[in-house]
Amino acid sequence: MAVAALPAFRTKAFIDGRFRDAASGETFITENPATGQPIATIASGGAGDIDAAVAAARRAFDDGRWSRRAPAERKEVLLRFADLLEANLEELALLDSLEGGKPITDTREVDVPDAVRTYRWFAEAIDKVFDAVAPTGPDALGLIVREPIGVVGAVVPWNFPLLMATWKAAPALAAGNSLIIKPARLTSMSALRMAEIASEAGLPDGVFNVVPGSGSEAGQALGRHMDVDMVTFTGSTETGRQFLHYSAESNLKEVALEMGGKSPQVVLADPPELDRVAEQVLLAGLMNMGENCSAGSRLLVHRSVRDDLVVHLVEGLKAWPVGDPLEAETRLGPMVEQPHLDKVLGYIEKGRAEGARIVTGGERTLTETGGYFVAPTIFDDVGNTMTIAREEIFGPVISLVPFDDEDEAIALANQTSYGLAASVYTTNLDRAIRFARAIRAGTVGVNAYSEGDITTPFGGYKESGFGGRDKGLEAFEQYTQKKTIWFALG
Ligand code: NDP
Repeated sequence: MAVAALPAFRTKAFIDGRFRDAASGETFITENPATGQPIATIASGGAGDIDAAVAAARRAFDDGRWSRRAPAERKEVLLRFADLLEANLEELALLDSLEGGKPITDTREVDVPDAVRTYRWFAEAIDKVFDAVAPTGPDALGLIVREPIGVVGAVVPWNFPLLMATWKAAPALAAGNSLIIKPARLTSMSALRMAEIASEAGLPDGVFNVVPGSGSEAGQALGRHMDVDMVTFTGSTETGRQFLHYSAESNLKEVALEMGGKSPQVVLADPPELDRVAEQVLLAGLMNMGENCSAGSRLLVHRSVRDDLVVHLVEGLKAWPVGDPLEAETRLGPMVEQPHLDKVLGYIEKGRAEGARIVTGGERTLTETGGYFVAPTIFDDVGNTMTIAREEIFGPVISLVPFDDEDEAIALANQTSYGLAASVYTTNLDRAIRFARAIRAGTVGVNAYSEGDITTPFGGYKESGFGGRDKGLEAFEQYTQKKTIWFALG
């Protein structure tokens, strides 16, 4: 193991500036998916704990201790918060690696640094964004001002625990809201530690609360709460739908949904060097074990380059060792839990049964560790209507669908209920632009697998989401509401 010592785990709910047990006294156990062994016993929050967190958040919002602070003052606190997160990088990286099975190199070099950058970026933005003056005649003055929404609930997934919580928290806090995060049951500890660090940085009590617990109890209680003004969610489309029901059946709170994907990587007949394409395609399909909403899991390839590309993909897999997530050279850790392992293996079986051909992988591996590892898997001869080309597998599985011309490629790329991301690989500029315009997805990469950076909005078309965007000034906007103040002049 490349890590010297385990940190002290934070295992209780963080409400109104302090840690506390669940009101019911109930707990659940998290485990290390690389070994199948238990890690910690976590407070299992329920409706009572959500009530307490919402009451604390509402008090904080109404008395203005954060919501009415000058943006420049909020900026100072958030910058201090980012500095403290950075100072605790190793610990935070370790927590997500232990609970999520994520390679420590990823959490050290991507997840935590990105989270730090996100807080800094929104902190720096807030005293530079101006409101508007309406183009009235001389007898009126119309101001259009942004105000924070109020109490925001964030329900986040297990695949990027710290980073997804940050994509919600940073813009929501920057805008002056109070926040309650419900982390995924499998990965609560980095969010709990983050809340403690926020408090050390000077975020007032009640502004940043974290209530661990199950989705069906704590998550639902947040979604249905009559005093929550907005819920922002990342996770499966199925659960996202539930939040619309919760909102409709309670106080019509705003809902922003970032959900699944079945994103196409499209390699046209004139791609750049195939080793470079293969590198990006593998990154798209295997990053974070494929447990990634924007995973490029559908590989559409022009028949003329398909065989060569497959050779490069198999060669490129040498750079993707599967192993102990705590070892620096590991690039593929385990699936997050046994039921998810079973689900991914079930999809692989279905792919075989429906007639796709396994090029490499296709099985569980490193079973002796007790962990939930899957060998990186490439299917060829996949039909776009097969289950593995339609449904989100959320594992290290790439499905190659061959095509014959560009129009067919566009039709295949759009033949999905999702629309989160896509990539096109071509050396022809006209084709790249035509394709980028034709594809119905929130982000299109050209000759790269990319989600952009913190300056660009991220979110989906179709069943991949709506109601807002993560990242960019769009994210800041989504945690504000607009008020018109109209002066009739005498
Ligand atoms: P979910 O959508 O179920 O979980 C995401 C979050 O929602 C978690 O905090 C979860 O809590 C919570 N939740 C679950 N059910 C409810 C509910 N009824 N009411 C309120 N909150 C709820 O994703 P899963 O973890 O179950 O993963 C299932 C599949 O979803 C994956 O295989 C993948 O296909 C997709 N997914 C997509 C993600 C993305 O980034 N777009 C992220 C994660 C999953 P709890 O921790 O208790 O489950």
